[in-house]
Amino acid sequence: MGRRLVLFPVPFQGHINPMIQLANLLHSKGFTIIIIHTKFNSPDQSKYPDFTFHIIPDGLAEEHDDEASTSDITLFLKQLNFNCFVPFRECLANLLSNVENEDPISCLITDTNWYFTQDIADGFKLPRIAFRTCSICCFLAYQLLPLFREKGYLQKQDSQLEVRLTEFPPLKVKDIPFMKSRDHRVVDKFIRQMIEKTKAASGLIFNSSKELEENELIKIGQHICIPTFVLGPLHKYFPASSSSLLKQDRTAISWLDKQAPKSVIFVSFGSIAEMDEAQLSEVAWGIANSKQPFLWVIRPGLLQNSQELVRLPNGFLEAEDGRGYIVKWAPQQEVLAHPAVGAFWTHSGWNSTLESICEGVPMICSPFFGDQMVNSRFVNDVWKIGVQLEKGLARGEIEMVIRRLMSEKEGEEIRATAMSLKEKINSSLEEHGGSSNQSLESFIDYIVSL
Ligand code: UDP
Repeated sequence: MGRRLVLFPVPFQGHINPMIQLANLLHSKGFTIIIIHTKFNSPDQSKYPDFTFHIIPDGLAEEHDDEASTSDITLFLKQLNFNCFVPFRECLANLLSNVENEDPISCLITDTNWYFTQDIADGFKLPRIAFRTCSICCFLAYQLLPLFREKGYLQKQDSQLEVRLTEFPPLKVKDIPFMKSRDHRVVDKFIRQMIEKTKAASGLIFNSSKELEENELIKIGQHICIPTFVLGPLHKYFPASSSSLLKQDRTAISWLDKQAPKSVIFVSFGSIAEMDEAQLSEVAWGIANSKQPFLWVIRPGLLQNSQELVRLPNGFLEAEDGRGYIVKWAPQQEVLAHPAVGAFWTHSGWNSTLESICEGVPMICSPFFGDQMVNSRFVNDVWKIGVQLEKGLARGEIEMVIRRLMSEKEGEEIRATAMSLKEKINSSLEEHGGSSNQSLESFIDYIVSL
């Protein structure tokens, strides 16, 4: 029976966190964990004394070394898929040849965005399990991209943006996920390869829960015919804080301790999203004009082309009048669990969305790209646990939505729905009968049988 597993995370915060959480979970079930990772954004090995790490050269220029994000994600990932092919194959070959006194390696678990790893796994006759760290609903939308293209939706003409897609309700044309890139042919090819190589894998894991995405899971089964396991929300087993690439500022918690229950809006747009100065100004004035207390994460790089501290608009500090607190990076999971937090204004990244759902915190959604558009629509229209800003970043709408959520009857209803979804999603992890727990048991049986 093979008990060693090789995991390979995509080197972005939103992908590293769930992969490390999965590694911890499988380790707690008796597996030996080997992590192969790139030099770029490499995890802090000292936090995982039980894992073995192998670093591979990623061919990136030195100036990328301290970056936690990049402005053309698809091109960047495509480049990494190309650059890592040979070093990854050599690293794996070494691991597979050094079997003396070691259990055999039973499978490779790699992010679906590492499409190149499927051919390498096939070459070594080693099963590969693909791990999709984003939502099932978004993966389904990617499956339907050829259909959307055929229908002419991908041109996203202004007159069509608000039209609902009959092929995938409740998405609107403007919600069709696109990946950040200067060149759309690169995006198309990237998604095609990602899907093709996922279909060729021996299994597929989602960090989600049946309680949340059962319908989408059934629909995915019509496109992908490999064993599929829904194991999330993984951050409930092991928190994301240990795999944080940036230092989390804990003064955020002591500041929250002094605030009234459910009064604070937590504002954070994840590790990759960027905005220009005009958008940053809309965000600032939207929050200030709402007159609500806020905790705002302004990470280095949130303002395009700026790794330095951001200069806030003139008059903003006087206008917010001490109601707010700004940090560069927060202990987000703990913040969302704090009794003072009343709403989460998020970019709708999948980890952020799951973390918010698990704490029953209603959301204000400002999606920027990719899966965020689909997650946001589901939060607004399907789960009904938040409100999407439909006009992008505009101070008037921001102020109005904050008021609707924090002080009107509609907000109370959304909060009640969020609380009941929290109970449901958390029950999926229960040891006896929880859907994710059952799926985990099936997954373990499956990889042991490979
Ligand atoms: N995060 C954090 N501190 C912050 C903001 C975000 O620790 O101040 C974590 C958050 O808890 C989540 C991850 O960073 O686990 C962001 O992942 P997500 O999928 O939401 O967005 P991405 O960064 O991939 O766009």
